[in-house]
Amino acid sequence: MAVTYKSTRNSKETATASQAILKGLAEGGGLFVPDSIPALDVDFNNLAKMGYQEVAYEVMSRMLTDFTEEELKYCINSAYDEKFDTPCIAPLVKKAGAHYLELFHGATIAFKDMALSILPYLLVTSAKKNNVKNDIVILTATSGDTGKAALAGFADVPGTRIIVFYPKNGVSPIQEKQMVTQKGDNTAVVGIIGNFDDAQTGVKNMFNDKELAKIMDEKGFQFSSANSINIGRLVPQMVYYVYAYTRLIADGEIKAEDKINVVVPTGNFGNILAAYYAKEMGLPIAKFICASNDNKVLYDFFETGIYDKNRDFILTTSPSMDILISSNLERLIYRIAGDDSDKNAKLMEELVVEGRYEITDEMRKNLSEFYGNYASEEETARTIKKVYESDHYIMDTHTAVAAAVYDKYVDVTGDQTPTVIASTASPYKFTRSVMEAIDGKYASQSDFELVDELNRLSGVKIPQAIEDIRSAEVLHDTVCDKSEMKTTVCNILGL
Ligand SMILES: *Cc1c(COP(=O)(O)O)cnc(C)c1O
Repeated sequence: MAVTYKSTRNSKETATASQAILKGLAEGGGLFVPDSIPALDVDFNNLAKMGYQEVAYEVMSRMLTDFTEEELKYCINSAYDEKFDTPCIAPLVKKAGAHYLELFHGATIAFKDMALSILPYLLVTSAKKNNVKNDIVILTATSGDTGKAALAGFADVPGTRIIVFYPKNGVSPIQEKQMVTQKGDNTAVVGIIGNFDDAQTGVKNMFNDKELAKIMDEKGFQFSSANSINIGRLVPQMVYYVYAYTRLIADGEIKAEDKINVVVPTGNFGNILAAYYAKEMGLPIAKFICASNDNKVLYDFFETGIYDKNRDFILTTSPSMDILISSNLERLIYRIAGDDSDKNAKLMEELVVEGRYEITDEMRKNLSEFYGNYASEEETARTIKKVYESDHYIMDTHTAVAAAVYDKYVDVTGDQTPTVIASTASPYKFTRSVMEAIDGKYASQSDFELVDELNRLSGVKIPQAIEDIRSAEVLHDTVCDKSEMKTTVCNILGL
């Protein structure tokens, strides 16, 4: 059965999967959503005998119905290979009363790799299928993590170029080092004199620049976007929930068709939405536990039915969740509004104009599978320390937000359903916060001393991504003013 993708703001705008991946965003700002989600009609006991790549094919082939088997297997096998430091790609680790699904074994040691390692292949394949002859140029503005994950994903992928802009004085030294040491003939990294908003505005302006598009087309280039609302990032994220379920079966923790809960540390709402889509495909998930940090706009939404971004932005030790507009929530709003694009468009308009919207009681009833809560900075740190002391398992700050919220959930409900916690980053990515949570005495030590100490305490090998930062050579040193971004892109592409 073919799945058609529709805009959340205009049901008349439709696309095939490959067209939706190429476009990224629908016209008028809507997001592409599947018009239906086909059943995963494979026995879970059979899925439990499969490796990650095979499970990925079963799930993704049902969503990306205009890809041939050969095309999809090429994408999957190109993405989920030795770039990951374990052949099982996403290990499930039982610790402290829960199952941690480690999504950080890819090139940049955070969960964005799960989608950004396959998106380049999905994009290039989509371009071919739609007779696009140009090379795809990915333009990204980053405040740190996404830029590196996108660079790693697109590096040396034939038919693509990637240009990343970051605020020269607005990312951490480690984040900058990760980006400017990126290898790959098709990669470019540019620091701008300006802040993240300037970088993002500059990128948006180039996307909308018709004259630039024409010049690029003449030279065989066209822009595309790798940001987290692309359906080509969401679909690969459904896979690991199904995979985790099959690992629970294989490990004898559950029987096929038993229910599980999932806990997801949430920012843009992409990761947890992928779990929701996996349930619609047939995965027996009882509760979606949505974990926020102090930027608890989603917790308030689940409590009150009001989404309100009018509040202070709080910098936390889980920066990838410091978000006040969770873009992918729009896809859930659309669903609980009964797939009504007019209703959804109205709410999203209110969000732009007023910074808030309120859903109806009827819509709220459709949220009963969700539980939202949040963890303060202190609760997050205490959880890292507690699980280290009880189980010698050291988790990162984002995962700790999820673990702390899961504790609250169990306290309130007594629910003993087997639970998968999405573990979204390696502790090595946030070494300082993690080590200081374990013991305040580490505050005086240097970042690399702490890396070695984390290695000693956890017994977990230092990831290649961290070793690279110590020794790698700087390959990108372009800096430009925020007003020179377009000129810089033209120089890089030789226009
Ligand atoms: C992006 C990110 C998140 C949030 O995921 P969303 O899909 O935006 O909800 C959580 N943890 C880490 C480490 C991330 O990089």
